Amino acid sequence: MKITVLSLFPGLFDGFLSSSIIKRAIQKELVSIEILDFRLFSQNKHHQVDDSPYGGGAGMVLSVAPIVAAVESIEGYQEAKKILLTPQGATLTQSTVKSLIEERDIILICGHYEGFDERISHFIDAEISIGDYVLTGGEVPAMVIMDAMVRLLPGALGNEASFQQDSFYEGQLDYPQYTRPYDFRGLKVPDVLLSGNHQEIEKWRQEEATKRTVARRPDLLKNADKKD
Ligand code: SAM
Repeated sequence: MKITVLSLFPGLFDGFLSSSIIKRAIQKELVSIEILDFRLFSQNKHHQVDDSPYGGGAGMVLSVAPIVAAVESIEGYQEAKKILLTPQGATLTQSTVKSLIEERDIILICGHYEGFDERISHFIDAEISIGDYVLTGGEVPAMVIMDAMVRLLPGALGNEASFQQDSFYEGQLDYPQYTRPYDFRGLKVPDVLLSGNHQEIEKWRQEEATKRTVARRPDLLKNADKKD
């Protein structure tokens, strides 16, 4: 899988790409990630990529031309899934992430300033938001999407089983986890986890996962019912 990120601030990705699971997935060639500075595609002599909004108003709007030129410079861009990061897009969910890892090539377009010239919508396939709040730029959302995707790629995590148990993967929250010490200031680990009885442990975990989903995110169960 190849992901190309269009950004005006490529340096923001340095730490992200050189750490932990993402770094390992790149080294194992499970994914290739390229960061493309679309300022390089500006035809303007000052390499300007934004301009004041038609109709007036505060802030600057990203011009459509350099972004489209950057997209069209990417090999195979026609088949790639082109995603605009915007707070106005569909909210990212685990099922969106699962569908994205089926793609061969993905292009993530990060905005800045007041956002994009609306005509960019003619050159993309989807608009994704990471939640109902406004960030300064699309770089953090791009990292959120890539992180969520990469951990689902076969071989990316040390323990293959670990993402299947994660919250949202099966439509409910993860069960509670404990590690040593057994007793921390009088707070003890549930005895069933020390019983060695794997069937009982699995049953307890299922029950706890359901209990906390009911208590914290009943909407997830309602959505699962709708899918049936
Ligand atoms: N004026 C725009 C609006 O209200 O829709 C917001 C622009 S925001 C300051 C600048 C850029 O940050 C956006 O173009 C987008 O790429 C990114 N961004 C901000 N919040 C986001 C979110 N919740 N999800 C995805 N991208 C976001």
